[in-house]
Formats: sequence, C-alpha cells, structure tokens
Amino acid sequence: TISKRLQTIARYCPEGARVADIGSDHALLASYLLVKGIASHVIAGELNEGPYQAALKQIHTLQEGHRASVRKGDGLAVLRSGEVDVICIAGMGGQLISSILEAGADKLSGVKRLILQPNVGEEVVRRWFMDNGWRLIAETIMEEDGIIYEILVAEPGHVTLPYDEKDRTLEELLRIGPFLWEEKSPVLEQKWLNEREKWHKVLAQLQKSDKPEAAERIKQIQAEVKWIDEVI
Ligand code: SAM
Repeated sequence: TISKRLQTIARYCPEGARVADIGSDHALLASYLLVKGIASHVIAGELNEGPYQAALKQIHTLQEGHRASVRKGDGLAVLRSGEVDVICIAGMGGQLISSILEAGADKLSGVKRLILQPNVGEEVVRRWFMDNGWRLIAETIMEEDGIIYEILVAEPGHVTLPYDEKDRTLEELLRIGPFLWEEKSPVLEQKWLNEREKWHKVLAQLQKSDKPEAAERIKQIQAEVKWIDEVI
C-alpha cells in the first residue's frame, strides 16, 4: 500500500472527482485514487523522463487505461482547461508548487479543489492562496518515519476567517497555519521544536565565527528563536 502521507492526501479527494496529480513520480497517488474508486479519472503529470516512464508502467499494470492518462510536461501545461476538478501537487517545495500554479493560472478555472503537500515553504503556499482567490479550507500536519508533513487544501474563494479574530497576526498565521494553530496538535509542537533546534545549531556555528556579518545574523536568529518560544 502507499504511504500514510499519500493516503492522507487521498482522503481530501471528493469521490467521483477527476483528479490531476502533478509531479506524480511513480503515479502511486493516481493509482491509489483509481483502485480505491475515489477518482473517476486521473491524469498523472511528470516533467522528467525517468519518473514519467515509471508512471506509464505503473498505470499500465493497473489496466485502467480508459480512466487514466500519463502525460509528460511542465506543471499544469499537461492539462486542458476544464479537464479536472481537483489538482494534487505533493512532495515539492512550496515555492515550486506556487510557481507551478502561477505559471498554469489559465488552467485553474473550473478547478474546485487544490490539495498541496509542500515539503518546505508552507507559508509561501498559504500566501499564494490568499493572493490568488483561493480559500484555505483544511490543513493537516502528520508525521511518518520521523518526517513531518503538512497538507493544505483550498477551494476557490476569498479569505475571511480563519485568518482574523485570532490571537495571532495574519503574518504569523500564514507561517503556522490557521487550522493547525487552532488544533495545536503535538505534531505541530514537534515541528516548531525541530525548527528551534535547527536554529540553535546554526547559532552555535555562528558564535564561533569572527566575521562581522555574523553578529547581525545572530541577532536575526535570536529573534526567530524568541518567536518560536512564544508560539510553542
Ligand atoms: N508527488 C509524489 C509524491 O509526493 O510522492 C512525488 C514527489 S517527487 C519528490 C517530485 C516529482 O515532481 C519528481 O518526480 C519530479 O520529476 C517532479 N517535478 C518536478 N518539477 C516538476 C514540474 N514543474 N512539473 C511536473 N513535475 C515536476
């Protein structure tokens, strides 16, 4: 079976949806969505030849060719307008995910849901939603094999709640995640403990340095650590 991470993504796919998985690698998510009868049709998009071949092979073994298509190309360029209801993009940085959405903006009309799993830079994705007429409707944070993942789900619309009337500023909620902040799960706490730990290591290195720019960087990082201490 597939990873808990991909299963969690699949849970956000409405039944009967036509789903594109962009950057599908071995098309494991697309296959799962078909085999479990969640998606009515899937499109697996891949930029690179190796994973594209792997996806073709995987879909071929399912013998569901009439309900699946594997396409090689950059981001949303593999899609025609109106072809899918849901787009999943998982396992890339938030910056890359946002730039894929940005570059393919013309393919987003008619799309009812985005399910995104940025490996880093979740904040960039939340900001992209807000600036581009997508409303965050759900978030999940989870751990698998010692790695923490966040899954962000959005639908067309404009932001009202949950970004305001909270004890955190908009900037802070974009970083932490408004739903994650509300839920305050132990995994969220662990994520920020890890983050703090990482900065402590950087600080220890910088404190050994006698470069003039180190002092400025130390101040910035200390401010960051102070913020994390307040959050968790
Ligand atoms: N989505 C899968 C998952 O979450 O397990 C695979 C993640 S893998 C780390 C990222 C995949 O995205 C790679 O197979 C890579 O070739 C592909 N990729 C990177 N940039 C892409 C782009 N602009 N368009 C389509 N695929 C891309």
